Amino acid sequence: MEREWRCKKCDTLLGVERGARLHLRYKQAQYVVDGDDYNVIAVCRNCSDVNERGGTQEPPRPVAASG
Ligand SMILES: [Zn+2]
Repeated sequence: MEREWRCKKCDTLLGVERGARLHLRYKQAQYVVDGDDYNVIAVCRNCSDVNERGGTQEPPRPVAASG
């Protein structure tokens, strides 16, 4: 099973989730995040929005917007 992880703001593809693993790729580098209890924060390369993802699902916290 494969699921795309996209920026919540601009829909840019951040990574691909394959089963329990999260695959992240940027240019020449490729990262695989594995484990039951991980927490990954990705800053979108397009809009710089912060996207957070964890193995344990938590409700999103409200973030105070500045600017
Ligand atoms: Zn974005």
